[in-house]
Amino acid sequence: MSAGRFAPSPSGDLHVGNLRTGLLAWLFARSTARRFLVRIEDLDRVREGSEQRQLDDLRGIGLDWDGPIVRQSERRDLYEDAIATLTAAERTFPCFCTRREVLEAPSAPHLPPGAYPGTCRDLSTAEQARRSRVRPPALRLRSDPGTWSVDDELHGTFTGGLDDVVLRRGDGVPAYNLAVVVDDAAQGIDQVVRADDLLSSAPRQAHLAHLLGHPPPRYAHVPLALSAEGKRLAKRDGAITLRQLAVAGLDPLRLITDSLGLPAAAPADLLEPFDPTCLPREPWTFVPPR
Ligand code: GLU
Repeated sequence: MSAGRFAPSPSGDLHVGNLRTGLLAWLFARSTARRFLVRIEDLDRVREGSEQRQLDDLRGIGLDWDGPIVRQSERRDLYEDAIATLTAAERTFPCFCTRREVLEAPSAPHLPPGAYPGTCRDLSTAEQARRSRVRPPALRLRSDPGTWSVDDELHGTFTGGLDDVVLRRGDGVPAYNLAVVVDDAAQGIDQVVRADDLLSSAPRQAHLAHLLGHPPPRYAHVPLALSAEGKRLAKRDGAITLRQLAVAGLDPLRLITDSLGLPAAAPADLLEPFDPTCLPREPWTFVPPR
């Protein structure tokens, strides 16, 4: 059965921009008769208590979801299975570069800026063994050169360069790009609605899905919320969480529906008037109350 999802990282409270993306993901899914799933992306930074507060806040603006919450930290076997599949197809290689070495390497002309330049792609087995004694390697995808295209509800066909993405970090933790692809496929998610700072990652993720034999989801990358300075909203911007806004006497849901040109109503009452083609295409600048 088809499904959409919201996949927050429990690194702090959701802010009004995250909640706005959550509402949109819910509206896209529910208005197309999909299930709506919540997945906690907790492979990385986790702040104690954050997951519960995020779930409370989603409920607080009137969202609900189907089935149990899924946590990535409980699914490491699935990611390792995918790595084994790719390794059996000779699609992986260990990489010994530090982040800094990757950033400082001269970039190859056929690769997008910042892309991995292929430094460790063709090391001999002996060299790999020698370097493994110095530092545990990351595992990268042996990607195809070139580009990949995805369909996006708001951006149309979007094409991006492929890259040897990290699949497992040097510390053994599965990387976001792998986990997201494995989970979306395993959970039957065929609609990915998220902020458009991830649009440029979509082609790599769809390509990785293809290599693992999964159909790509349909994407909708929605405009990001920005601070008055034009940067993505962050904690230092002040009153941006549900609790902070409530203390300031503001109704977060109302702020969000106003920003989307939707009527001031509970999410369930927005399904009828929801029309993705009418969504704003520009980032939303949110100036927190002082
Ligand atoms: N966990 C990611 C975030 O909170 C979202 C990833 C995704 O939606 O693909 O930014």
